[in-house]
Amino acid sequence: MARRVVDVLVPVALNQAYSYRVPDGTDLNPGDVVSVPLGPREVTAVVWAENGNPDPRLHNRLKETGDKLDVPALKPELRSFVDWVANYTLSARGMVLRMTLRMGEHLGPERVRMGVRLVGAPPQRLTPARRRLIDLLSDGLLHAKTEAAKEAGVSAGVVDGLVDEGTLTIEPMPRELAAPTPDPSFAEPDLSTDQRAAADILRELASKDEFNVALLDGVTGSGKTEVYFEAVAEIIRRGKQAMILMPEIALTGQFLDRFASRFGVRPIEWHSELTPRTRARNWAAVASGEAQVVVGARSALFLPYANLGLIIVDEEHDQAYKQDEGAHYHARDMAVVRGHIAKIPVVLCSATPSVESEVNARKGRYRRVALPSRFGGQHMPHIEAIDLKREGPQRGKFISPRLAEEIKTAVERKEQALLFLNRRGYAPLTLCRACGHRFACTICDAWLVDHRFRQRLVCHHCGFSMPRPHQCPQCSAEESLAAIGPGVERLQEEAAALFPDARTMVLSSDLITSVETMRAELNEIAEGRVDIIIGTQLVAKGHNFPRLNLVGVVDADLGLGNGDPRAAERTFQLLNQVIGRAGREQGRGVGYLQTHQPEHPVMKALVASDREAFYASEIESRERALYPPFGRLASFIISAGDRPTAEGFARKLAALAPLDERVQVLGPAEAPLAVIKGRYRFRLLVKSARNVDLSDYVRHWIAGAPKPTGNLKLEIDIDPQSFL
Ligand code: ADP
Ligand code: ZN
Repeated sequence: MARRVVDVLVPVALNQAYSYRVPDGTDLNPGDVVSVPLGPREVTAVVWAENGNPDPRLHNRLKETGDKLDVPALKPELRSFVDWVANYTLSARGMVLRMTLRMGEHLGPERVRMGVRLVGAPPQRLTPARRRLIDLLSDGLLHAKTEAAKEAGVSAGVVDGLVDEGTLTIEPMPRELAAPTPDPSFAEPDLSTDQRAAADILRELASKDEFNVALLDGVTGSGKTEVYFEAVAEIIRRGKQAMILMPEIALTGQFLDRFASRFGVRPIEWHSELTPRTRARNWAAVASGEAQVVVGARSALFLPYANLGLIIVDEEHDQAYKQDEGAHYHARDMAVVRGHIAKIPVVLCSATPSVESEVNARKGRYRRVALPSRFGGQHMPHIEAIDLKREGPQRGKFISPRLAEEIKTAVERKEQALLFLNRRGYAPLTLCRACGHRFACTICDAWLVDHRFRQRLVCHHCGFSMPRPHQCPQCSAEESLAAIGPGVERLQEEAAALFPDARTMVLSSDLITSVETMRAELNEIAEGRVDIIIGTQLVAKGHNFPRLNLVGVVDADLGLGNGDPRAAERTFQLLNQVIGRAGREQGRGVGYLQTHQPEHPVMKALVASDREAFYASEIESRERALYPPFGRLASFIISAGDRPTAEGFARKLAALAPLDERVQVLGPAEAPLAVIKGRYRFRLLVKSARNVDLSDYVRHWIAGAPKPTGNLKLEIDIDPQSFL
């Protein structure tokens, strides 16, 4: 008799599915989640396809599938999505599947907890322990058994004894509801005329099961959230699910509370900091359809939604959407793909859209939904440049006299000021004044960053750290070390000296140990318990600080000179966003840009609030250079424990690139970060016309090239965002 065979995709670094025999009497279909033996282990995997024509002679050699898990089958749309992402990014399918199976340890039916209830008269023999327990249960309600015993301070035996006596009964506890249902009519907002018009369009899109992409393009403070909440409300009414993606760091309590004030309950969260138990519960709630709204970081894209009807990508231009380890994918782009496969609308939101999305909107591929002014008629911040060549601070200081004066006035008016500098630590470089020795990481091509709070010199690439010495390791001079350049910690020192009465706070990712502490610190600021905030890009995103009116950008040029094709775009977005924190409630926002190049197009566009001019010049230069979205890019990062091995392999690969006049291979060149963790790095950049299937080109190339062996490593990054 022919046995059934299925192809099962296992969540490991493999592209192909493995065949397994289906035991007699087991019903397995594509999408089912099963446990299968893999080598010595049992892994949770997914039936990917029926194996139509298995060779009967192989049957006996195939292993059998194990238990089918009690979770809904992965829908065809999710399986197609996994295949698509793997194919496009050249990642192993198993690795992509792994992202959908991150359901924590408690997979399977939740253990039913037992409860106890008082039902009968007290027994004859009433010990003090029994008395305490009966008192506790005298409300007649169902109490969890273990908790009740603990609370009454009695053993489980005491509980069981009273059950035997007929005083108590044992009943299963109802399952905890993981996801309370949001109420779309809980608190409907009063929208402005612009917001109303925008919300109507989004609601209309959300009312249909059709693929559409809208670009919700609204200035900072225009109330984009309120607007897309209307589309979410529509989805909830339709009984479907909405996914709201956010850059990980922006997943703040503030947002969850805002959601709760609109819909009555907090949404389900999905990000890397969930406890295994919450992760398991949320995963199950998404898979069953019980969770109607999920707010998550990029990985939420791979969850097995039962009934997805809408995807929102907030701050769509944010770099945090690109994952650069494991599968290299861009969550915004993949959200559009997922929407396309599932035939549902996707809303991308930003005050400063990526050039890619901006071009799509200009060409009519995305529908632009604009919110041109701030909610409540607040003015956009007024922006001025401070020319560091003419009115810079004295040597060794970083706050110019003019900026200092403005901060003083703001603090006197009981308003908040934000000093923005995208540099963690105290100083980016430490050198010996006597011999010129510079402190560098021993295994990376990078200077050690002085972190005074932690009292260590730290490598930002590998995490290596050492105590800050008192003596130069090279010339043994004492007290000769000088900190060169500013970091946020040094800025705080300067601010404290300039404004001794002001309360300062540094917000920087290295000082924040968890999402919870970050939420607490942001709350302190929002409540006005801080006068001067000194922050890295952590503060740029998504927060509302009602009393913040002044933003001083300490080094506006910082991101411009790094050879990244998106340097200008990134700087424009970041500075726009951080200055956009100012004046959101009182409308008196001002931004100061300390810069050495006030004539740079980015600075000019910011000062003139001329967004149009910025996009026009940026789009033109991308088009000229055939950079995305007018051309495609892929990059290869080749690394090895020694330089010649890495370089040799990179050269060999470059020489094997298939000929195609629409494709250009640049390099190999030593990576800007030439050594990380003792690995020497080379890069190839592949550039093609827009109409080339670059993933396919690279796949053929790699198939015909030698595999990296030994400690050689090849990473392929389609649509790279980082060029370091
Ligand atoms: P954006 O995300 O576009 O920068 P937000 O959505 O954060 O802007 O909105 C800016 C501020 O305006 C928030 O404090 C928000 O609560 C408020 N707001 C926006 N729209 C409304 C509305 N219709 N009614 C009341 N408050 C609103
Ligand atoms: Zn290092």
